[in-house]
Amino acid sequence: MDKSQNIFEKACRLMPGGVSSPVRAYRAVGMTPRFIERAKGSHIYDVDGHDYIDYIGSWGPMLLGHANPEVAEAVCQVVYRGTSYGAPTEGEVTLCEMLIDAMPSVEMVRLVNSGTEAVMSAIRAARGYTGRDYIVKFEGCYHGHSDGLLVKAGSGLMTQNVPDSAGVPEAYASKTLTAVYNDLDSVKALFEACGEQIAALIVEPVAANMGVVLPKPGFLEGLRKITEDYGSILIFDEVITGFRLGYSGAQGHYKVLPDMTAMGKIIGGGMPLAAYGGRKEIMEMVAPSGPVYQAGTLSGNPAAVAAGVKTLEILKAHPEIYTQAEMQAEKLEKAFLENIEKYHVDAVCNRAGSLMSIFFTKQPVTDYPSAASSDLERFKEYFAVMLAEDIYIAPSQFEALFVSGVHSDEDIRKTETAIGKALGQWQA
Ligand code: PMP
Repeated sequence: MDKSQNIFEKACRLMPGGVSSPVRAYRAVGMTPRFIERAKGSHIYDVDGHDYIDYIGSWGPMLLGHANPEVAEAVCQVVYRGTSYGAPTEGEVTLCEMLIDAMPSVEMVRLVNSGTEAVMSAIRAARGYTGRDYIVKFEGCYHGHSDGLLVKAGSGLMTQNVPDSAGVPEAYASKTLTAVYNDLDSVKALFEACGEQIAALIVEPVAANMGVVLPKPGFLEGLRKITEDYGSILIFDEVITGFRLGYSGAQGHYKVLPDMTAMGKIIGGGMPLAAYGGRKEIMEMVAPSGPVYQAGTLSGNPAAVAAGVKTLEILKAHPEIYTQAEMQAEKLEKAFLENIEKYHVDAVCNRAGSLMSIFFTKQPVTDYPSAASSDLERFKEYFAVMLAEDIYIAPSQFEALFVSGVHSDEDIRKTETAIGKALGQWQA
């Protein structure tokens, strides 16, 4: 811990909270973050020489595990030919073709650098297409940090109990309406009140930023119907679920087709890359085809594209990666459930494929209020034991645990033991 502590002290003098992104600072668990030196497969190593089993996976991208040799090689090959040209490359066309082939609703796509940008730009295109201003989002869903989306957002805002961000003009935030996840009546009420002014409704088809919350049967179908009835654009934010719930994302899994899709994380294989896409007539609104402006110096960066293409090639050729990740996740879910029962812990476990969360609450977690009913002190104590057992999970109640296709049986056995210790610690 000495090196991490020293670096963190220096970092705190130089960077807000000592980090480049808030949740990394471990504020919610009151600890010092581990500074990472390297990672390989399902393991991540800090500067003090600790070897952890990693269930953060860079917050989603690392479905193939860290430093996959084929992905690394693909990136290196490109980097030696130049890191950025600011000009089109064939690799981008290959990646866009793969995204369109994989995602059932996507007909045309634009590459960007982060999930934030993907969502922000998709919303601008939807507004440009419909000529309307309002958007609807769900309480507890996180869609990146663009102004209009920091309204009742999840992830780091929920962890730090910051419902909204300072610095967002009221006039801007007032264009964002919020509904309750899994509650179609709350959506209907908004559309009945001002549906003709709603450009788009955006949803995480499986919510993963208030912890993992699954859509109830009929919820996504209901959103499809309501948005269609009012001529509003349905946007699926598949930044987490895309290529994780399966190669065709949540839309393939649930068989509900949105008009637009935001993608990120896995499609960049751990490099800064994201994308938004959708119906051709909407995407053709985007410059230079249409009047909606959106651009990027590093967009379609060749190294990021190479990592993305190789990652998707591997996933497409090896569907068993999904089965493997899901099977290992199922074992962890079982360990959570068995220990919750054994030690009479007030907790529930939600899982969608290789994504899951344990919530320290008695009630089923189906929306923001039920997620927010979790006992955060309990989470802290659980987290501390897991970390002491070398299990690297998100330092927040309101994030997902990400299982990769390379977590071994040995990793799972060690994690099961840690879960037993973490959930057994409150026994009288
Ligand atoms: N949408 C979702 C569903 C996300 O989980 C995230 C980030 N965790 C984003 C958008 C924003 O992506 P980025 O951090 O790459 O800007």
